[in-house]
Amino acid sequence: PPPAESAYLDNLNPEQRDAILTTEGPLLVLAGAGTGKTRVLTTRIAHILATGRARAGQILAVTFTNKAAREMKHRISSLVGEAVEGMPWLGTFHSIGTKVLRRHAELVGLRSDFTILDMDDQLRLMKQIIQAAGIDEKRWPARQLSAFIDGWKNKGLTPDRIPPLEARAFGNGKGGELYRAYQDRLKALNACDFGDLLLHVITIWRAHPDVLADYQRRFRYILVDEYQDTNVSQYMWLRLIATGSKNVCCVGDDDQSIYGWRGAEVDNILRFEHDFPGAKVIRLERNYRSTGHILAAASHLIAHNEGRLGKTLFTDAEDKTAEKVVVASVWDSQEEARAIGEEIERLQRDGHALSQIAVLVRASFQMRELEERFLNIGLPYRVIGGPRFYERQEIRDALAYFRVTCQPADDLAFERIVNVPKRGLGDATIQQVHAYARAKGVPLLQATAEIVETEELKPKPRSALAGLAASFARWRGDLDRLPHGQLAGIILDEAGYTEMWQQDKSAEAPGRLENLKELLRSMEDYPTLPSFLEHVSLVMDTENDPTADKVSIMTLHSAKGLEFDTVFLPGWEEGLFPHQRSLDENGAAGLEEERRLAYVGITRARKRAKIWFASNRRIHGSWQASIPSRFLDELPEAHVEVREPSSNYGGYDRSRFDAMDPFGSSYSSPGWQRAQRLKGGEDRTRGGDDRKSGSWAQPDTGSGGFAEGRSNFGGAGGR
Ligand code: ATP
Ligand code: MG
Repeated sequence: PPPAESAYLDNLNPEQRDAILTTEGPLLVLAGAGTGKTRVLTTRIAHILATGRARAGQILAVTFTNKAAREMKHRISSLVGEAVEGMPWLGTFHSIGTKVLRRHAELVGLRSDFTILDMDDQLRLMKQIIQAAGIDEKRWPARQLSAFIDGWKNKGLTPDRIPPLEARAFGNGKGGELYRAYQDRLKALNACDFGDLLLHVITIWRAHPDVLADYQRRFRYILVDEYQDTNVSQYMWLRLIATGSKNVCCVGDDDQSIYGWRGAEVDNILRFEHDFPGAKVIRLERNYRSTGHILAAASHLIAHNEGRLGKTLFTDAEDKTAEKVVVASVWDSQEEARAIGEEIERLQRDGHALSQIAVLVRASFQMRELEERFLNIGLPYRVIGGPRFYERQEIRDALAYFRVTCQPADDLAFERIVNVPKRGLGDATIQQVHAYARAKGVPLLQATAEIVETEELKPKPRSALAGLAASFARWRGDLDRLPHGQLAGIILDEAGYTEMWQQDKSAEAPGRLENLKELLRSMEDYPTLPSFLEHVSLVMDTENDPTADKVSIMTLHSAKGLEFDTVFLPGWEEGLFPHQRSLDENGAAGLEEERRLAYVGITRARKRAKIWFASNRRIHGSWQASIPSRFLDELPEAHVEVREPSSNYGGYDRSRFDAMDPFGSSYSSPGWQRAQRLKGGEDRTRGGDDRKSGSWAQPDTGSGGFAEGRSNFGGAGGR
């Protein structure tokens, strides 16, 4: 049937339809939040498949998260029907990169079963390299080296390509050398880090045109979502592959570029038209997601940014009953969590699904209090993308055991657990093993197995290590014989790891044992232990039961592309949002990126957006007075409802605060005043600022001195 008559094209607007039917040649869809960019991509894939332009395996589609990839697969199959087999090349840059790299690993000196290191391992490795180079690690911390190396990798720079000046950036001019040493060490460990998943592929494609040509032929159609957040190496990767068919379609929104701090370059949008001459650009302007109030609030806010390509957005959703964007203030973050919990329970009583509610935070530390509160009142929630389950200590330890079992050369994993639980191994013993390994050029596990046959070690550590080496040999032998879930349990038991937590009397120990159980449970979803380990390296999401009805908690960064009926946005306070670090490190550009983050946050909401700020916040254990975010002033009065200081939530427990804070008693109102933000008598409300923001000015209660010079967030006075 002619494509225009296909059901999947129903209900689309003409521009969307155009973007879907223009299958050939480069295409850029540049459009604001909620205009259907992702829907266009999904439908475009469905259209390509339905009209037989390509088979599923010939389409390369890049999403920003694994979750988004899963959702897209799901939607495509519902559009095209069951007939479509899986989409093997739909995923994140990293997951696709891994797949390509496994096929050609030997071309960059790796084996196809290479391990993917996480941040923790990376840092440990860098630390060793810094030490080995005789550099003072206190002055030149591993984290800093890691930032340099990540930065280079994001820019697509291998050690031989970094500009000479930059190469001298770290450790008294040794940055470049250390980068090279790090890469060599990774190779020796048969491992790579996240950046390598792309960089190695770029290296391979550049050095082996035949391999590249193969992929260029394979991928007839290339599609990229969230294009505004690609970094240079992702862009290079895309360009290499897309020069084949040239049927590359990127969709994005410059106003939602929020990964500048990780090397993303909005300029890639501009570069697109340059690098793909004749590219068609389509703009979508109708927002299908949000109410007029929400859209107006978001548009008004983002209009304060200067560096914009500029877009119009409108909605046809005319609803007189639509709720305005709510701004509510609370005493402190604990009350904020309590108030949000109550509101969610109210929504739930009114029949709203929890899965349609999200709490979006600026910084992950904000989650703990929310989580604690939700646990307290029995409100089911899931944390998305944030403090990952797999990053918990007990999970990392367990994974290290599994990694050594599968991958005996994985020295980092081995080091992690060699003395966990305690096996009576001192530093001296560990060093002896290291020295042996270096001398013989073998991995630590092998060194261990060999050194225990010599007279080198004292009897006690020797027998402990002999036992460990024998255990790993046995477990490895069991890999093909036992179901991996069962084997994993055996490993943890025989290693004494389970017992270690059973003996532990701390309050967290039972939770840790539950987490371990959960780990074993979750691995049964994967056919083998190695495939599970690979999954763990790649996942950003922590959820275990995606069908249960739960509130979502996540950072604003991980909320990209998602939508919910109701969105709670806590913590709109100077220093936290906009985040002080962004302002300090990147000045005006940092502020604009924070504002885009606010725009992303508000535009996640379909029906309700509720913004909160607390007058006091406990950060890393100490109380800090806070000042309302400047972004609140940038919301349009007509679309916002300011909620009075929340006495209705009751029980501020002022005494506690007063007792802790010598200034607390001078604070006479829990409300927030614009005046709080003013310093040195400068009143920006009346100071010729023509933006309407009067609604934020609460009656002056004479407590203006409260925030003066006391906010540890600093810099509160100026824009
Ligand atoms: P973001 O920039 O936040 O990623 P987006 O541009 O990708 O947003 P989508 O998520 O694709 O937008 O679409 C937003 C919502 O609007 C979705 O619920 C989608 O199903 C709906 N939508 C998109 N196009 C239409 C349409 N033509 N008719 C009805 N609903 C639509
Ligand atoms: Mg989208």
